[in-house]
Amino acid sequence: MDVVVIGAGVAGLAAARALKRAGHRVLVLEARDRIGGRVHTVRREGWQVPIEAGAEFMHGRSPALMRLTRGLRRDLPRTGIYVEGLERRDDLWHSVMEKIGKIPSLRERSVRDAFSTLRWRMRTTREERQLAAAFVEGFNAAALDRASVKAIAQQAAASEEIEGDRMARFPRGYSAVPRRLARGLQVELETEVKLVRWFSRHVSVETGRKTYQADRAIVTLPLGVLQQGTVRFDPSLPRWKVQAISSLAMGPVTKIALLFDEPHWPSDLVFLHARGMAVPTFWRPLPSRAPMMMGWAASRDALALKRPAAEAVRSLQQALGKRVRPRDTVVFDWQRDRFSLGAYSWVPVGALKQQRALARSVGTLSFAGEATDYEGACGTVHGAIETGERAASEILQGRGGRP
Ligand SMILES: Cc1cc2nc3c(=O)[nH]c(=O)nc-3n(C[C@H](O)[C@H](O)[C@H](O)COP(=O)(O)OP(=O)(O)OC[C@H]3O[C@@H](n4cnc5c(N)ncnc54)[C@H](O)[C@@H]3O)c2cc1C
Repeated sequence: MDVVVIGAGVAGLAAARALKRAGHRVLVLEARDRIGGRVHTVRREGWQVPIEAGAEFMHGRSPALMRLTRGLRRDLPRTGIYVEGLERRDDLWHSVMEKIGKIPSLRERSVRDAFSTLRWRMRTTREERQLAAAFVEGFNAAALDRASVKAIAQQAAASEEIEGDRMARFPRGYSAVPRRLARGLQVELETEVKLVRWFSRHVSVETGRKTYQADRAIVTLPLGVLQQGTVRFDPSLPRWKVQAISSLAMGPVTKIALLFDEPHWPSDLVFLHARGMAVPTFWRPLPSRAPMMMGWAASRDALALKRPAAEAVRSLQQALGKRVRPRDTVVFDWQRDRFSLGAYSWVPVGALKQQRALARSVGTLSFAGEATDYEGACGTVHGAIETGERAASEILQGRGGRP
């Protein structure tokens, strides 16, 4: 093989696809029994709609994902935002989103500190401040008192560039995207990489059962897996790379899908923000009108859940102001997934430069995956795809790394 790619998530598949198109011989090694990684559509008996265990939305109109998802996606309405008590508050939501885009970020500090500056307090109402804090914690899966305000501002700017407020879903499931990327690729499933030996002119990747040789490798292991150190590198990765791995953070997310016999919410409801509750965000599987809600808890909220399904039902009941009883529930806890160990990465105060270091190649090893995005799209599907394409083009242009 010319290149062996470790991980068949969207980053690894995008890298392999670009290399194959350029005539390289590429092999993708994947630990799970499926491709897609954190893009994973589940089908369950009795549910009329596919359930998204991981990524669910296309955020904005990134060129990479727009091309790839032609015919697969459906745009969501930009209104229909409710808060607890079933009050429709599109106005509040849009104003909070706009203000987050202008968060005071000249000086690096935590988001919590930035939120307590006079400038921010003068510009926002108490209600907006609460929703903004809940949004950063929920959407970025980040701890407010540690998250870098520069990184959040960079992400807001990057999102604005691609009209990030325009969201789409995939009625037949997000997994169609990795399937498209994987067409014609050689992928070995149930192949867990244990050791990566890298030399000046080749690499040797070991699984315990088999050893694969190639000129180069692209490592797309999730940040959580790199941090745990279950995949060994020989020789060890240089100190700056190890520091990058430990400086960035992986955010926890738990999703709880709830299926009902009938809908218990207004027909125009898209998102429901149940502020202050154990599971603080819900949405419907639009464009399907199926009587289903997806509950979302991230960061502290995800870590605090003891009985996610029961707590999701209780939160939804409080937000709707009535008793509801689901017919079925499914819980996806990404912290416990040993091939991910968290949902997606976020940047602690002072660690913005570490994303670039994580992305930088080392000798015959290139790195890709959502956490290696340094242009404000970490934690997204389009960001991950772009990092895969970047790693492939590095190899195609012969820009290897120095050990
Ligand atoms: C709950 C949740 C919700 C999300 N929602 C959205 C959303 O709505 N919109 C959005 O844009 N993004 C969302 N994301 C983020 C998005 O899913 C990720 O950024 C993206 O899918 C990451 O792709 P990747 O290729 O970098 O990593 P992964 O998809 O994690 O791919 C890495 C691959 O490496 C494999 N692997 C791990 N260890 C080994 C090993 N030892 N040997 C071989 N293979 C190994 C894994 O199994 C995995 O397949 C969400 C993520 C989660 C978890």
